[in-house]
Amino acid sequence: MMTTSNNETLTIGRFAPSPTGPLHLGSLVAALGSYLMTKRCGGLWLLRMEDLDLPRVVAGVADDMLATLESLGFEWDGEIVYQSRRGDYYREIVDRLVERELVYPCGCSRTEIAQVASAPHDAALVYPGTCRNGLSAHKTARALRVRVADETVTFADLVMGASAQDLGRECGDFVIQRADGPFAYHLAVVVDDAAAGVNQVVRGADLLTSTPRQIYLQRLLGLPTPQYGHLPLVIGGNGGKLSKRENAVSLAAGRDLRREGGKLLVSALRFLGQKPPADLERGAPSEILQWGVANFDPAAVPRVSASFHL
Ligand code: GLU
Repeated sequence: MMTTSNNETLTIGRFAPSPTGPLHLGSLVAALGSYLMTKRCGGLWLLRMEDLDLPRVVAGVADDMLATLESLGFEWDGEIVYQSRRGDYYREIVDRLVERELVYPCGCSRTEIAQVASAPHDAALVYPGTCRNGLSAHKTARALRVRVADETVTFADLVMGASAQDLGRECGDFVIQRADGPFAYHLAVVVDDAAAGVNQVVRGADLLTSTPRQIYLQRLLGLPTPQYGHLPLVIGGNGGKLSKRENAVSLAAGRDLRREGGKLLVSALRFLGQKPPADLERGAPSEILQWGVANFDPAAVPRVSASFHL
């Protein structure tokens, strides 16, 4: 564990966008929230490109994201990690889980799962455990699944408060690798956060219900569990989805960040429940971030999704 000069544990946070489309208002909020939560404690803020899902990765987006972050005044610590370059590392971890018989091959298609599964909420399918005791003779493996124990995973979210999920009932055995190669997000995120010493994960609340799976994997792998903080989501004015144009925060998508950057950052601070002075938006991005580092109040971050007022 790394410590600061006062012998306190060094906070290591990160921002981990998927370069499948330009940065959007939600990613701006996640970048700013994770940055300020880390920097207010004098910590390190790492950057990781989650480019595992190669067919969905859009060429040029990762570089556009970096240019956008830079023009908004963000500075990251250390080298950027690209998940697409870490396949050997994930393979080693999966082999370990296979050896310990904590995972098993599953031959079910989505349609087959939907036919037997119960979907308690938000249409997330609970895997009914069809292949738990072996693939039936006529099936070939489509994925490797982790066997979950019948247990409730609980954690204290820095923003959302006490959170709990009964893994067996609300999620079921989950995929960590597809048979045709790709490693699943849950596996990669857990392995990468641990490898980088990340001890504070601040991200969008769309991942709140994924966190128990990640904590479960950390426990199986003997890895420490970071602190989690899930930030409210940005929704459209009428509660629906934002259009691509309204949502994009990117140089390539045509935002003039030199003109609008200060306004965007100050609006994101307000979205996070902070009270920046009215004239702050005329300052340079780096000054706005400095104000945030000095004044950020985690207790003021709202728990509910809201629209973003520029
Ligand atoms: N790559 C994920 C996303 O862009 C975030 C993953 C995380 O922060 O754990 O939604």
